[in-house]
Amino acid sequence: MGLIVQKYGGSSVANTARLRAVAERVVRTRREGHQVVVVVSAQGDTTDELIRKAHELTPNPPRREMDMLLATGEQASIALLAIAIDCLGEPVVSLTGGQGGIYTDNVHTKARITRVRGDRILRELAAGKIVIVAGFQGITVEGEDYEITTLGRGGSDTTAVALAAALKADMCEIYTDVTGVFTADPRIVPQARKIPVISYGEMLEMASLGAVVLQPRSVEFGAVYNVPIHVRSSFSDEPGTIVKELTLMNGNGNGTETGEKEVLVTGVTHDTNVAKVVLVSVPDRPGVAARIFGALAAERINVDMIVQTTKAEQETDLLFTISRDDLPRASEVVRRVARELGAKDVLEDQTVAKVSIVGAGMVMNPGVAAAMFQALADCGINIQVISTSEIKVSCLIDESRVVEAVRAIHRRFLEENAPGPVRAAATGAAATTAAAAPGSARATASTAASSMATPTAAAGSTSADPQPGATGSAAGTW
Ligand code: ADP
Ligand code: ASP
Ligand code: MG
Repeated sequence: MGLIVQKYGGSSVANTARLRAVAERVVRTRREGHQVVVVVSAQGDTTDELIRKAHELTPNPPRREMDMLLATGEQASIALLAIAIDCLGEPVVSLTGGQGGIYTDNVHTKARITRVRGDRILRELAAGKIVIVAGFQGITVEGEDYEITTLGRGGSDTTAVALAAALKADMCEIYTDVTGVFTADPRIVPQARKIPVISYGEMLEMASLGAVVLQPRSVEFGAVYNVPIHVRSSFSDEPGTIVKELTLMNGNGNGTETGEKEVLVTGVTHDTNVAKVVLVSVPDRPGVAARIFGALAAERINVDMIVQTTKAEQETDLLFTISRDDLPRASEVVRRVARELGAKDVLEDQTVAKVSIVGAGMVMNPGVAAAMFQALADCGINIQVISTSEIKVSCLIDESRVVEAVRAIHRRFLEENAPGPVRAAATGAAATTAAAAPGSARATASTAASSMATPTAAAGSTSADPQPGATGSAAGTW
């Protein structure tokens, strides 16, 4: 008997038959004697459909209104699932994010959970009910306005793990349309293998680099509050992937729990939600980069790779990548700043993608990066930008080559008889900077993960994004 949080993604509740199957699984868990809190996403492609409708009106809709719109998707699912569970004769109540005590900051469409008040949910559980909470949405705490917010794509994962943390649940189960976390997206690499156990650190890196099976923020919550996460299929009872704290001495995340790291590369990820922006011929003087990236930061636009190319005559080209979703807003900001700085031009490219390898084992092995570059070279794929950290290497390439690239890199490192890095020239890459942009003389690189403000509280602490006044250690409240 314990408390279990179960999250069901969009495909798991896509139609009436799927909703019934989910209701049956939830009721089965309840009848096994557990208390159950269920987080659900919008059905099927509802969120995409709503975004499409708004974009038929304008490419850059007001973000508050997008939140009002998108939150309706999850609100429909919670009610439908509650009706399906009621039909099976179990007491149940559905709650919006706000009713479920999910409080956020006021950054519409990318809000961050600042506090979870679990008292309402705990009351409903104590009354013997199954509690269903709308994923992906919250409510602001500032003032009395109670604005509805959403947590960014994939945000229901974060709702689930945050609730599991606040309620001190025994397990957070993420039910989805694949049987776990794989060594690459199984939809594009049929040879990808399920990873039975993975550390929070590697999972965070994979999620940040495009493995959409978990929202990165959910992994951060898991790590900070030590919530074990079980990613598994809603279509079967097969065991999935456990995301938990792993050390060198208790395994390497690939099921070989033997101590010393043996696997250099844990997974290959790709991200096509990438846009490249180039400011052409900006003055090469102190403060220019600060001005551009300061303006983007003020708009809460996350910048990933950055490369500055030194040109003759005190001019530079400045290249950076952002999420493609942010391009309409970024474009406005950058064009304004570029005019003020006297830059010659601003180029935008939405035909790029990022492929990455992730693995805690690569830190001591300089040949790993070289082997990845060789795999791309063997396919004739040009690398536009490279960024590295201790546990990942990313390459920006042409989007049209991304499937080929992921398959080739996966073959190189993760399939039977994979040559791995040993046969590669041991040239390696610097741990923190590298660039292969044509003509590049200077480069900086940063990971998506490192540019996120990670909650710093220790596991078991009661304050997530430490909030003034948000303390107290009672279960259910941060
Ligand atoms: P849900 O609607 O359940 O939240 P998502 O579409 O957000 O599901 O996430 C599941 C999808 O993540 C899978 O269908 C798969 O295509 C994709 N995916 C990408 N990388 C990986 C990976 N490394 N392992 C498993 N799934 C992955
Ligand atoms: N419905 C939202 C999305 O599609 C949130 C989620 O599914 O996690 O991104
Ligand atoms: Mg998802």
